[in-house]
Amino acid sequence: MNPHTPPLHGSLPPEGADPQRLQGFEGSYLGNREVLRPDSRLECKICWWVYDPAVGDPQWQIAAGTPFADLPSHWRCPNCDCEPDQFLLLP
Ligand SMILES: [Zn+2]
Repeated sequence: MNPHTPPLHGSLPPEGADPQRLQGFEGSYLGNREVLRPDSRLECKICWWVYDPAVGDPQWQIAAGTPFADLPSHWRCPNCDCEPDQFLLLP
């Protein structure tokens, strides 16, 4: 390990990056709801907000116990308004 190695440029997406360019980001479920379980938690990769089915989403009046896959198609991240396919499946 060389402690003087400069940080890699371009290793992080620039702020305000086009979400379309981030398709295929490792860990993304890529909109494939079949990989989701009813109790899967997902994290917004833009703002790190986490959807927990056990909690639901009061802002969107999503009842507790609603799986991510059952969110309405117009649902967006309540924190940054990004689309649900920008969420990452948490282990
Ligand atoms: Zn967000």
